[in-house]
Amino acid sequence: MKRDERGRIFLSTENASKEKTFFGHPRGLATLFNTEFWERFSYYGMRAILIYYMYDSVAKGGLGFDQATATAIMSIYGSLVFMSGVIGGWFADRVLGPRQTIFYGGVLIMIGHIVLALPNGGATALFVSMAFIILGTGLLKPNVSNVVGDLYPVGDNRRDAGFSIFYMGINLGAFIAPFIVSAVSDKAGSFHAGFSVAAVGMAVALIVYVLTGKRYLKEAGKKVPNPLQKSETISLILKIVGIIVGIGILIAILTMITGSLTINTIILAVTVMGVGVPLAYFIMMMTSKKTEADEKSRLTAYIPLFLIAVLFWMIEEQGSSTLAIFAAERTDLSIGSFQLNPANFQSLNPVFVIILSPVFAWIWTKLGDRQPSTPRKFALGLFFAGLSFVIMMFPGIIHGNTTTLVSPLWLVLSFFICIFGEMFISPVGLSATTKLAPKAFASQTMSLWFLSDAMGQAFNAQATQFFSADTEIAYFGITGFVAIAFAIGLFILAPFLKKYMKGVH
Ligand code: GLU
Ligand code: ASP
Repeated sequence: MKRDERGRIFLSTENASKEKTFFGHPRGLATLFNTEFWERFSYYGMRAILIYYMYDSVAKGGLGFDQATATAIMSIYGSLVFMSGVIGGWFADRVLGPRQTIFYGGVLIMIGHIVLALPNGGATALFVSMAFIILGTGLLKPNVSNVVGDLYPVGDNRRDAGFSIFYMGINLGAFIAPFIVSAVSDKAGSFHAGFSVAAVGMAVALIVYVLTGKRYLKEAGKKVPNPLQKSETISLILKIVGIIVGIGILIAILTMITGSLTINTIILAVTVMGVGVPLAYFIMMMTSKKTEADEKSRLTAYIPLFLIAVLFWMIEEQGSSTLAIFAAERTDLSIGSFQLNPANFQSLNPVFVIILSPVFAWIWTKLGDRQPSTPRKFALGLFFAGLSFVIMMFPGIIHGNTTTLVSPLWLVLSFFICIFGEMFISPVGLSATTKLAPKAFASQTMSLWFLSDAMGQAFNAQATQFFSADTEIAYFGITGFVAIAFAIGLFILAPFLKKYMKGVH
């Protein structure tokens, strides 16, 4: 049986299996779908109540942080979760292989949720839990996605559809979790009860992964593509020490500049890293001898697309920070006798993904060659994200103040428009990344794409601190119009950019 360098078999009639399938796909997809469903259930379930846990008063069972700090922590948390994907990709490539890396990542995530579920841990428990979940998700998330790709023999045209089904799994988990987690935490009158639901979710993910993985995933993701050599040990240790010392120096410098070491210094350090890590990644690829001339040109074209994605994620990810505050503080939550929970709004993003994904898949197939180029799609995606913020100026403008509670439909509309934009960016971006990345770095492209989200949230850690009911109209307006301006710029420059893409649409 012929295999490529990642251990995937080539597509041929002799290899075509007559096994049962999962919606016409390899059954391993069912394992990965379920694992990622439950992992995302735990992640988005936890995040749906986390911001309220941080800024609610101690009397209400919260930590009593101020709102600006709470939103900034949401952002650096999200940023680090996506940044640590770099470690996960490297670890799978060079040490354990994706399959085992996923397992250990899952164990770390579960420990993280358990730490947060224990009562009375306070802020210390929160930070310990964050450390576990950041590292664990970094090990798990990019690798689950990579193994999805590995399920398909080279040349199998079901791959894109496989990713769409997988993306559905992600969003189903993200959709259901906020309801269950907030209901449990409300009923028990304790945030920790909610966090324990997340821990259970992650436990289910691990059980499914272990029990069904052996049978369905078979050899997928078992190989270590580029095993670490003994001779590299010393240079590796030096690199790790170098990185730790580097982070230490960064924090020391920022402490000197700001005058004291506080949570804000750490937040600033993450913002600097959120810019520094992708920059280092690009420089490494651009200057590598393994990158060919055409690939350098494609990489040049990828940079503006990456930056547009950063702006897009800045807005999209505020769904769980500034818009979550808007849901709790500025929205009328009673519909007749029914009382909404502000965490419920977190289900809007994923539900719109679930509804719109098939529609867009259909549109792209229908349009075939007539569909817009990748840069134009990115421009459209960012335009709608910008619009989703611009319309959030109106509740304040129409009521003439930012104290009257407004209809929940404003948020519904805003989420809808933003996710309409996400359809032009998220699935398109992943596939564009694989096409534009240099071959020598193919397996690290997943981490590269997630770094656009990391960088967006790193900027958010600073930007969202300006958000409050007093600044709301200007905040949504400025962010929204800036995004729209960039979108128009990219739309105009798209044909020029395509020249650099060397044949990639
Ligand atoms: N929201 C998706 C997830 O959590 C995708 C995020 C991204 O691509 O940055 O898996
Ligand atoms: N749309 C996000 C993702 O695809 C989910 C969310 O933010 O709730 O997972």
